[in-house]
Order: sequence, then structure tokens, then C-alpha cells
Amino acid sequence: TSLFAGIQDAPLDPIMRLFEAFNADTRPGKLNLAIGVYTDAEGKVPRLRAVQEAEKRWIEKGLPKTYRPIEGTKPFRDAVQALLFGDGAPILSQNRAATLQSVGGTGALKIGADVLAKLRPGATVAVSDPTWENHRALFTQAGFTVTEYPYFSADTGGVDYPAMRAALAALPAGSIVVLHACCHNPTGADLTAEEWADLVPFLREKGLIPFLDIAYQGFGIDLDADAAPVRLLAESGQEFFVASSFSKSFSLYGERVGALTVVASDPAMRAKVEALAKRLVRWSYSNPVTHGAAIVEIVLTDPALKADWVKELGEMRERIKEMRVRMADSLHQRHPDRGFEAIKAQKGMFSYTGLSPEEAVKLREEHEVYALETGRICVAAVNTHNIDRVLDAIDGAVK
Ligand code: PMP
Repeated sequence: TSLFAGIQDAPLDPIMRLFEAFNADTRPGKLNLAIGVYTDAEGKVPRLRAVQEAEKRWIEKGLPKTYRPIEGTKPFRDAVQALLFGDGAPILSQNRAATLQSVGGTGALKIGADVLAKLRPGATVAVSDPTWENHRALFTQAGFTVTEYPYFSADTGGVDYPAMRAALAALPAGSIVVLHACCHNPTGADLTAEEWADLVPFLREKGLIPFLDIAYQGFGIDLDADAAPVRLLAESGQEFFVASSFSKSFSLYGERVGALTVVASDPAMRAKVEALAKRLVRWSYSNPVTHGAAIVEIVLTDPALKADWVKELGEMRERIKEMRVRMADSLHQRHPDRGFEAIKAQKGMFSYTGLSPEEAVKLREEHEVYALETGRICVAAVNTHNIDRVLDAIDGAVK
């Protein structure tokens, strides 16, 4: 018998399955709102101005593509820390934060999970209900028991913070809590600044280990406000993990650029955890990528390019917000009892629209618009050319 006969059949995750169904769909009017990619006003994945300029400079330098250090270069790591903690933040000079370049945000989560598996084997990992599909799989794969804490309130389209807090309070000390720093995927519902200010000391008091996932920094309010939870944790003095992704903010998805940052209590502990993380990288894939990280590094270390990147990221964010307002207003007007107004307050690329699984199927089958069966849509894929179609389709599906 085959070596592989014992492999259990398991479905792809829902996003991948829909992606395949979309590709196989031959209807010319098909529209994909199930994706996790920002597209511009013309429906294209943008090539950011600063990225194009950095790529030109990189090519002109004619450098060989030798191995990068396991942890990435110092300018890259410093730039990542400045983005997370803010220019001039005290923690930048305290030498207690270790940053390693990673294979996208996913790779940061994976190496972080592997580090934690060495330190807290058998711990419980709590993720939000709902969360990005891969969180559960990734931490399960790293050997943890994964549970969910209540998060989204279908009634308000926001976060049910009291329920979340109560569930976290019941976790054993030493549990790991995965938190979306901003632009929650899939719901778009974020904690308020006040809720974060309450949560950060609470996590410490309960002995819970925060693992922040920040895949959409700059898409919510702005680069600084979106990183506020990271900064609050840094100021609190507690130890925590952060997974950064540059896939969306630089529109460099396939280049696989991200970073894992581990904040320790002091420089000696930082050195220990950094060395462990480096060993785990070495045993997993040896070295991180050259090209994408070089591009991000050039942009972030050149003040003019960085300023242009910040500006263009702001343009992307404002474009999404404009679509949010138009969608929320129009849908609310047509269906005042469906809570569509929440789309306006939700942040980042996604929204939980409140569509039922049946409505999502109807949307796809009768109106050629693909949304996840959870009702998640990618607002970043809506533009002035397709918004009327999207609105009519949703209108048709919920009638
Ligand atoms: N975390 C969240 C919440 C995400 O939505 C994503 C990407 N969809 C990631 C992490 C992973 O990002 P990357 O593509 O950089 O691995």
C-alpha cells in the first residue's frame, strides 16, 4: 500500500475553497469580495510609488542576492521597531525587544508559536471568535490546545468587550492570548482605546501572554493609532509577542515580508529569546528572503520614500473608508433593520456584513458576487466602478 494511504482527507480552508470556485466560475460578471487583497480604484493590486522607486534603486545597486542574516539586517529590524513602537520610544533603546525578519505575518506567527511551544508546552492559546482561519490551525500545529474567546457582537457589529474580558479572566495563568492589534480580520470590529487601556494591565494581572497580530497597520486610523496596543504593552513592561505583516501595507503579498518581535523583561532575557528564535528559524528555513525585505528596508530608511509610502497608505485607507460610508448609508437606507450601519465604523479591509450563509450562497449563485459564507466581505475590493453592482447584489440577496 502507498505510504500516503493514511492521509486524512481534509477540506481546504473556506477562503481557498472559494478562491478555487471563483477561478472555475465562467460567468463574465463574476466579482470576488471573498479575497484578502487590497485593490485600487481601478480594481488592480497596486504597485506602490515608493515600492517602485525602491525597486529601481535596488536594481541599480546591482547587489548580489546573497543570504541575509537569520534575523534580517539591522536597519530592517530597527525600522520595524520604529513602526511598531514609534520614533524615539523608550523601548527602542532599552534593548529588550528582539525583532526577526519573517516569512510574512504567517511566518512571524509560526516562529512565535514555535518559541512559545518550547517555553509553555501544553498551554492554552485563546483566539477571538471569529478570527483569521489560520490562527487556530497554526497554533494547533505547533502543539497547543486552541480555544476561543467571545469577540464579535452581531447585535452591534462591534466587539462584546465585557464577554471577552470575562472569558479571558477564566483562562489559566500562562495561557497565550492572540489579539488583533487593529483592523480585525474577519469582522472589522476593533477594541476602543479605552478597552485596550483596560485590557493591557488586566492581561498582566492575570499572567496571560499577549501575542499581537498586526497585519493591517495603517489601514485603520493611521500608522501610530493602529499600533497603540503594541505601545501600551511596551509601556506596561510586560513580555509579549508581535507578528507584523507588510503584505498589505506595502502591497508586497508574494514577496513574503514580515517580522516577529518578542519583547522581554530585560536585555539578558531578550538575548535568550532572540537566540532561541534564531535557532528555530535556522531549523525551519535557514534564512529569510532578500528582495522583498530589501525593498521595505529602502522605503523605511529613506525619509522621503517613507513619507510617500505613509501618504499612499493613507490614500488606500481613505479610499476604503469612502466605500464603507457609501455601502453603509445605502444598505442601511434599504434595510434599516439589518445593522448595515456598522460597516461604517468597522476598520481595515474587511467587514462582517451580517449576511447569513444562505444569503452569501444566493449572492454568489444569483448575483455573481463572492463573499465568505460567514458574511465577510473585502471592502478593499469595492470601488466606484463596481459599488452599485455590489449594493444591488446584496440588496437582492437579503430580500
Ligand atoms: N494575520 C492576519 C490577521 C491576516 O489577515 C493575515 C493575512 N491575511 C496574516 C496574519 C498573514 O499575513 P501574510 O500574508 O503576511 O503571511
